[in-house]
Amino acid sequence: AVPATGSLLDRLDPDQRAAAEITEGPLLIIAGPGTGKTRTLTHRIAHLVTACGVPAEQCLAITFTRRAAEEMAERLAALAPGHAPRITTATFHSLGLRILREQHERAGLGPRFGIADEAARLAVAAELTGDERSARRLLPAISAWRRTGGAAEGTDAEIADLAERYTKALRRLDLVDFDDLIALPVALLEADEGLVAAYRDRYRWISVDEYQDVDETQYRLLRLLAPPDGNLTAIGDPDQAIYRFRGADVGFFLRFRQDFPAAREVRLTRNYRSAAPILTAALQVIAPTTLVPDRELHPSGDRGDAPVTVHRAATEQAEASFVARTIEQLIGGASFHAFDSGRVDSDGASGLGFSDFAVLYRTERQARAVMAALTNAGLPFQKRSHDRLADRPGVAEILAELAYAPAGANPDERMPVLRRVRLAADALLERLPADAADEAEDGETPPDRLTPEQIHTAVELLKPLAERCGDDLERFRTELALGVEVDTWDPRADRISLLTLHASKGLEFPVVFLVGCEDGLLPLRPPGTRPEELDPEHVREERRLLFVGMTRAERHLYVSHAAERTRQGVTRATGPSPFLADLDASAYRVVGDAVPRRAKPRQVQLRLL
Ligand code: ATP
Ligand code: MG
Repeated sequence: AVPATGSLLDRLDPDQRAAAEITEGPLLIIAGPGTGKTRTLTHRIAHLVTACGVPAEQCLAITFTRRAAEEMAERLAALAPGHAPRITTATFHSLGLRILREQHERAGLGPRFGIADEAARLAVAAELTGDERSARRLLPAISAWRRTGGAAEGTDAEIADLAERYTKALRRLDLVDFDDLIALPVALLEADEGLVAAYRDRYRWISVDEYQDVDETQYRLLRLLAPPDGNLTAIGDPDQAIYRFRGADVGFFLRFRQDFPAAREVRLTRNYRSAAPILTAALQVIAPTTLVPDRELHPSGDRGDAPVTVHRAATEQAEASFVARTIEQLIGGASFHAFDSGRVDSDGASGLGFSDFAVLYRTERQARAVMAALTNAGLPFQKRSHDRLADRPGVAEILAELAYAPAGANPDERMPVLRRVRLAADALLERLPADAADEAEDGETPPDRLTPEQIHTAVELLKPLAERCGDDLERFRTELALGVEVDTWDPRADRISLLTLHASKGLEFPVVFLVGCEDGLLPLRPPGTRPEELDPEHVREERRLLFVGMTRAERHLYVSHAAERTRQGVTRATGPSPFLADLDASAYRVVGDAVPRRAKPRQVQLRLL
């Protein structure tokens, strides 16, 4: 019998609690944003280990980003102190790496095999294709071929041959790449029932958050790790699938039901995050293409009732200053809106700190105007960058330099990593053509040529990350390859957060500004192309992205668009995102009076409000 549930589960509502109390067998939790999916997942695991006698080392919690995995580990540490360090929290890639490290011999790898980052992959491919340009062009096809075992459409004999030679070359260097991290463990497990049994025995309780973003290989890994009647919990929201174009998202929810026929299902219907008007607007945006047509989602009612604001700016700069001004006003206490015909709201917004604000955008490029406006206003911010450190100019080249010293093969094994990085940088600097520095000053350096400044910056970037690793070169490479980000975004810092819609997944903020909600950016469309040319599946995915962004907001949501925008050096007139047309007129109020240059019926309608 399950012991008394104690106070842990008292922090869940009846539906969440019901899910947490299903302690055995396959479980599928499909629920909308802010319904406490992640909260239920962590409480359920804490309940298993503290109240149900489940050994913590048999629990495995998987999610998609390192940051999310770390956050989960933190929450578990708070909920189940003492047990938490023995619970495995992982991303799919770190789990794959763990299995490979343990089974390296079966995989034909050395005990200290390395992970090929982007630069090393390019270097290996360039050896085969003859030059870097064609390597860059062919790598995606090679990757696709390797991921699908040749099943990808439109691949030819040339790609198959390259892929095979690419794999051999990696193995000669004792390297695996990112695709291998999941594909190799899957292949090992598929070939060996004994191995499957051993891992099933080790991880007897498996939970996956953000299940809507699982792909084919990851799904195969899950199926191998959990028997059909195993304790596998998948938690997700099909309407928040933003990483794939193929519509396979719903597919994996359906596959779960087929492959785990004993699965019980729980739906969570109460949203604890967003004020009612925000939730209403978000649901109107997703409604036309929702993948969960029978969804129920009710506001919990304690997040205020400020209306969603649609701001129509004349330019990108005006849009950004509106963001800065509004933050100043909200921080100041009263939420007085200059654009709002002098009306003063007293909606309880005072008491907000900088960390309560987030500005979300579709493309990194849009951050510039926002950063300029915040800097002008003297407002502190932090940008959550999406680039991996390994993809920064200079960093990749330094890593490539290091990649050719296969792990364990270097005679001077104990050299501090930082020293190695410096030596690699020196070697690179020496190889730069003598005139590179002059060119840099003229601003005429071709984009593919590295400057000495970039190399110095790269060393600086790598320093904290290198110092932490001491003389463990392998750890350094692993950390970089697993996607350490340049990102110094600190969830606890009292700063305004700037981040892409993609990076906002799973997070929440009291006040959210969604900038550039306009035709051409949402859905994203290359300048100069027509909306009719877009793949309908891409448009659906972009709509889900807007849905994800809107549902990050707790109390205030500002959606804005500019009447003109400069992209790739050309200034064009733009209109609001077509997705906004699905908002009911009563779902929002409009501020700003910029009139789009090309009036369409829909824009006229907005102007009348
Ligand atoms: P997303 O789909 O965006 O990942 P989610 O379903 O994972 O959202 P959570 O992040 O777990 O939702 O929860 C959203 C917010 O609601 C959090 O601040 C959480 O603490 C709060 N919350 C969830 N359930 C409850 C509850 N039963 N009582 C009070 N607050 C709750
Ligand atoms: Mg979540």
